[in-house]
Amino acid sequence: MTDCIFCKIIEGKLPAKKIYEDDQAVAFWDANPASPIHILIVPRVHIPTLNDIPDGDTLLCHMGEVAKRIAQDLGVAESGYRFFINVNKGGGQVVFHLHAHLISGNDLGTFFIKVAIIGATLWRKLLSILGADGTRRKN
Ligand code: 5GP
Ligand code: ZN
Repeated sequence: MTDCIFCKIIEGKLPAKKIYEDDQAVAFWDANPASPIHILIVPRVHIPTLNDIPDGDTLLCHMGEVAKRIAQDLGVAESGYRFFINVNKGGGQVVFHLHAHLISGNDLGTFFIKVAIIGATLWRKLLSILGADGTRRKN
């Protein structure tokens, strides 16, 4: 596919920080990482989405094996990581060359959400102690 970013990366026509490659797949660091570790595992063949993999094809299995190996190499296999595929626009897919995400490390998004929830809970508690108008209740 001439207009496909990932085909161009695979062919070496666009730069990418590759971490792994074999005869079926290439893996490289995401250009806009959602976490300290964010790797894309991409099959060499141009398949637009997960829906386009024929039944019985072992490609997906291979992509899982590549993810497992990279997670081990980066030392996060035991601590944990996420492995997922976005499918079509409604599933968040932006690049229409099949790829899996391997994400691990500090999830700052989740961290800030947790801080916000804890903050809101404490604030509500404080208001209930003080009373809605800010005056302290007797008990
Ligand atoms: P999707 O949303 O399609 O599942 O994920 C596409 C991913 O590709 C995004 O996380 C985005 O940051 C990444 N990406 C888009 N263009 C490039 C690029 O040119 N190089 C690299 N390394 N990653 C890219
Ligand atoms: Zn492609």
